[in-house]
Amino acid sequence: MKTLGILGGMSPASTATYYTLINQKINEVKGANTTAPIILYSVDFEEIVKCQKADDWQASGQILADMAVKLQSIGADGILLATNTMHKNAPEILASISVPFLHIVDATAHAIKAQNIDKVALLGTQFVMEQDFYKDGLASFGIETIMPNPDERADIHRIIFDELCVGQICKNSKERYLQIIAELKSQGAKGVILGCTEIGLLINQEDLDMPVFDTARLHADMAVDFILGA
Ligand code: GLU
Repeated sequence: MKTLGILGGMSPASTATYYTLINQKINEVKGANTTAPIILYSVDFEEIVKCQKADDWQASGQILADMAVKLQSIGADGILLATNTMHKNAPEILASISVPFLHIVDATAHAIKAQNIDKVALLGTQFVMEQDFYKDGLASFGIETIMPNPDERADIHRIIFDELCVGQICKNSKERYLQIIAELKSQGAKGVILGCTEIGLLINQEDLDMPVFDTARLHADMAVDFILGA
């Protein structure tokens, strides 16, 4: 098996999901006591949040690229960045490593295309919903995104950072998310991307009557394929 380097802790709540899913799936395939060879580098998330708030993506890019280089130097055969938002810094990470980088948009777009869907709602942090890097990545696969309105985006963002990233799951927040998704469906969305790796803690496929693309799960599946050399 290949060794996967994970840039994690953004937030710990979703890194735990990745770790659990990857190990479960590797064990399902390989049996016995087999688990995934993983090197986890977990940041102090506050350092990254400070860069986001200061709009200093150069600083966050430097932090993440340095971490990726360290992971490679101690034996990671590939690098996975366990957050959608920080894929804004994917170019800096890619430029600093020579091993494969497992991009979250590739994992998500392939799952959407496999269901022949070309128009999806996108929920994530305000950085994901309001900046171009994420929707342009999806557009390069021919996938159009429908965004929540500004008030909805503010609520989604607040719930991610104030609740989900610190492990709080609130019923009212789930209802708010479902209400927003219903509105986006009425605007023509044929599926919804949970474009923040913590949203799966609140919403899953059973809550909705259209396809749900949970980026943490799809990215973890990509990681399993990589580890198994598929
Ligand atoms: N994990 C989240 C994401 O997928 C948000 C935390 C962050 O800003 O990295 O975007």
